[in-house]
Amino acid sequence: MNRFFLLILAPMLPLVGVQAQEPETLVADMVPVETVVDTHAADSISALRLRLQPKPIVSNPDTNNLTIIDTLDSGNEALRVILYSNNTWKYILDREVAKDSTVFEKYWNTTTLFPYREVDLSSMPQSIVIQLLDSVTSYHCPYQGSVHPHGKYGPRRHRQHQGIDLPLKTGDPIYATFSGRVRISQYNTGGYGNLVIIRHDNGLETYYGHLAERLVETNQWVEAGQIIGLGGSTGRSTGPHLHFETRYYGRAFDPERLIDFKNGILCRETFLLKKSFFNIHSNAAQDFDDEIANEEQDKHEIAEQAARRYHTIRQGDTLSTLATKYDTTVTNLCRLNGIKPNSIIRYGQKIRVK
Ligand SMILES: [Zn+2]
Repeated sequence: MNRFFLLILAPMLPLVGVQAQEPETLVADMVPVETVVDTHAADSISALRLRLQPKPIVSNPDTNNLTIIDTLDSGNEALRVILYSNNTWKYILDREVAKDSTVFEKYWNTTTLFPYREVDLSSMPQSIVIQLLDSVTSYHCPYQGSVHPHGKYGPRRHRQHQGIDLPLKTGDPIYATFSGRVRISQYNTGGYGNLVIIRHDNGLETYYGHLAERLVETNQWVEAGQIIGLGGSTGRSTGPHLHFETRYYGRAFDPERLIDFKNGILCRETFLLKKSFFNIHSNAAQDFDDEIANEEQDKHEIAEQAARRYHTIRQGDTLSTLATKYDTTVTNLCRLNGIKPNSIIRYGQKIRVK
């Protein structure tokens, strides 16, 4: 039996299927790939394609300051209907009734940032379908804004940025992206500062770093759109921003694959998480020192570029007259322009002098 499936299937309850090579029955029945005879391949692939069509989902309206006026039965013991004072309503999962022990008990660690270290993803399928939304689960943008151009996910010089950075004003509310349970709410000395980590019903985890204030506690259940903290600049940070990460079994992938932060919308209801989205070679921890070093390097480069000066060669100019004129040396001019002291400079040529 494939060890990965044993480890991973139970917690992935909302999982509805996997990509073409691994028919849906594989997930449901936990049968290894080799033994499955796929008789419904065409059907399930087209059905899957249909579900994977990008479909923008707008945030739920905020219910944070609304009064609940009534709670109704839904016919399903685990589901309650909550009515709000502004005539909106939503389903709420009764956690006591609908206890899903697997997602929230297995690898449930309220002190370690990365509890999945021992999970081996080498036998993970090439892609996994994650149901982000259904009748019960909803979505809210963690913070609507533009991702900082230097705060995108991925390789930055020699290191990895494991999340995205969203500039904000200190005190701006930060929302739970999906419903779930708070696994970590603590001040992290490794760079995140005030950090909240939420594990969601769909098996994903979201990380919210540099918060000015945390408004939820460890083990607390949260709904999508609930305010979980206020944005800030705690930890290794150069200014107020939200450092936001999305992880699956501890492996980070680009949050912009899920969310259009500028417009605040979820890109799709069903997310095809490909193994290639993870950077397998990077370790789980985020290196904030490197983030700050990168930022300083950026500033240095921008300042250096802005300070550059050029001179257009006129009649009578020589490298030594230019060196005198711009208070520099012939050697320096040669270095800046990749030329030799005896190189011929032509009329009209642009020479960098600073
Ligand atoms: Zn960051």
